[in-house]
Amino acid sequence: MPYYVYAIRLDRDAMIRRTGKPPHKFCDQNDHIDWDYPLHDGCDFYYVGQSMHKPECRFAQHKECYGWRIKFTCQCGNARGKGKVITQNRSNRFARDYGLFLSHSLFEHHNPIKSRAVAEKLEAQLASELRSNGHAAYYN
Ligand SMILES: [Zn+2]
Repeated sequence: MPYYVYAIRLDRDAMIRRTGKPPHKFCDQNDHIDWDYPLHDGCDFYYVGQSMHKPECRFAQHKECYGWRIKFTCQCGNARGKGKVITQNRSNRFARDYGLFLSHSLFEHHNPIKSRAVAEKLEAQLASELRSNGHAAYYN
């Protein structure tokens, strides 16, 4: 079964609007940034993930698979049988509330990936690359 890694660009301004800093969980994963100083313009925020679903389908799940009476039908065709209809929360709060779009150029060259183990490795690697380039990235 193929797997996919993806990166969602987050709305940085919205994430820091309330206190000048993003939520604690986000800061904790990005301790390469000194959150007491203003962010430089080139610092973008990302949510990074991996899934058996194609990135577009997974992005839609982050937006829609949340709250009461979840009923989402897989759009990418990679789910089989009962897995086609998702009725559970598949939404990360940052991706749901602040996700703007998929940043295809960051991940397309990796996909499809042959195993979950490799996808998980690439997920961590992508987050780490983004951080090395002065951005902030979050993954589960
Ligand atoms: Zn799907």
